[in-house]
Amino acid sequence: MSTRVRFAPSPTGYLHIGGARTALYNYLFAKKTNGTFVLRIEDTDLERSKREYEELQRGDLKWLGLIHDEGPDKPNPKYAPYRQSERLEIYMKYGLQLIESGHAYYDFTTDAELEAMKEAAQEEGADQHYNGIWKKPEMHAEALKRIAAGEKAAIRFRAPQKDYQLKDHVKGDVTYPSGMVGDFVIIRSNGVPVYNYCCVIDDWTMDITHVIRGEDHLNNTVRQLMIYEALGAKAPEFAHVSLLIGSDRQKLSKRHGATSVNLYREEHYLPEAMNNYLTLLGWSHPNEVDIFDKEDIQGIFDIDRFSASSAMYDLEKFKWVNGQHIKKMSNDKLIALVEELPGTEFFKAQSVEWKNAALDRYKQDVHFTTDIPKLINEQILSTEIEMTDALKEILSWETTPKIIDYISSQVESYGAPFISEADLNNWMDHVKKELGVKGKPLFQGVRATLTGHDHGPDLKVLIPLTPVEVIRTRIKGLK
Ligand code: GLU
Repeated sequence: MSTRVRFAPSPTGYLHIGGARTALYNYLFAKKTNGTFVLRIEDTDLERSKREYEELQRGDLKWLGLIHDEGPDKPNPKYAPYRQSERLEIYMKYGLQLIESGHAYYDFTTDAELEAMKEAAQEEGADQHYNGIWKKPEMHAEALKRIAAGEKAAIRFRAPQKDYQLKDHVKGDVTYPSGMVGDFVIIRSNGVPVYNYCCVIDDWTMDITHVIRGEDHLNNTVRQLMIYEALGAKAPEFAHVSLLIGSDRQKLSKRHGATSVNLYREEHYLPEAMNNYLTLLGWSHPNEVDIFDKEDIQGIFDIDRFSASSAMYDLEKFKWVNGQHIKKMSNDKLIALVEELPGTEFFKAQSVEWKNAALDRYKQDVHFTTDIPKLINEQILSTEIEMTDALKEILSWETTPKIIDYISSQVESYGAPFISEADLNNWMDHVKKELGVKGKPLFQGVRATLTGHDHGPDLKVLIPLTPVEVIRTRIKGLK
C-alpha cells in the first residue's frame, strides 16, 4: 500500500510555526514516498473552531506551497468528508460498535457526580480512574433501556490495564505502563467525540500509514493505541518530532516573538526560506547542506533523520536563511518581488539592465526583500548630505575643492541619465594625472563629491546606478 499521511490542524487560531513544520514534514514524506498528503480539519471543539481560521491556515499552507492531495476542497469519495464536524455519524457508528464488542459502555454519570467521585478517591488516596457503576458489564441492559427512553449518555472507553509499547521513529521504544490511564470518554453525551477517538477513527478509515506530529501528542498515543487494538485495526507508524523551544529552553510561545506563519508573511519572509528553516529545526540534511528548497530535498527526506532533542528556534538564523534565499534567487523573480513592495516607483521605472545591476549589488547583503528599496533610497536616491566630522575633514583638504570643481563641471554637462563606469574611471584618471591628487585624497575626495558621504559601497558599482540629477543636487549641497 502506498503511504498516506495527514496534517490535521484545529481551526482555533492562526497557523503556528510548529504546525507549519509538522505540515512540511508530512508533505516532504509524502513526496519522498510518492504518497498522498491529506489535509484534515479537526474542528470538534465547536466553540473555538472557526471556518475563518480554517481559511487562514489553508492560505498560509498554500503560501508555503504545502499543497495537499486530498482535503475538504479536494475530496476523494472513498475517504470524504475531511472535516471532523461532518463525520459525527461515522464516530457514532464505531462508538456503538465498541459498545457492542464490550470495549466501551454508556455512562450516565453527571459532571457533578464525576467530580464527587474524584474528590472521594483523592481523600482516600485511591487511584482516581473512573470507577462508576456503568463500568460494570451487568449495567449494559439498564443502559440500553435508558437510551431507548431517550436519555443521553457519554460513551466511555474501557482502558485495558496492561503495558503498551510504541516503536516511534523519533523517540525509539516507548513504554506506557499499565495503569497510566483509566477509562475515558470517547463521545460526550451531546454526541461530540473527543480528539483521541476521532483521530483514531479518521486515521484508520482514511488509511493513514504514518502519523508525523509534535511530541506533545506522545502522551495521547497510548489512548490511541488502545482504541486501534479494540477496533482490531493496525495502528499506523508514528514519528513524534521534538518540540520547538526558545533560547531559554522553554516551549516556544508568543513570549519568544512571532509564532504564527502569517506574521512572518507580513514581515516579508520568503516561503522558501521558511520551509528551509523549519526543515532544519528537527531534521538534518545527510550532506550537511544548510540552504535548500523543499524540491531539493524531497528525494532524500527520511523520517529516520529527525533529531530526538528539542530544536532551538533562532530568529537570527532564520533571517540569515532568508538572506541566503534572496542571494540565490534569480533576478527575474527578485525584480517581481521588489516591485510588489511599496515605495518602489523609481525602481520600477528603470531599465532591465539597471535593475539587474542594482540587484546583483544589493542581493549580496540583505536579509529581506524590503531592505533593497531601503538601501536604494539611502545610497542611490538620497540627496541628503550628512556633515560628519569625517566629511568635514575631507572637505577641508586643499585638494577637495579642485576635485569638486572638476567633477561638477563634468556632471553639469553630462548628457546621459547615468554616469558610465568608463567615464567615472576617466574622471578619476584626470584628477590623478591633471590635478595631481593621489591616494586617500583622490578616492575620498571623489566619493565625497559624488555621494555627499565619507564612506559607502564601491563607487564603480554605486555611481553608474545613481541618477546624474541626484549627483548634481548633492554637489550643490556641498558647495
Ligand atoms: N488537531 C491536532 C492538533 O492540532 C492534531 C494532532 C494529530 O496530528 O494527531 O494538535
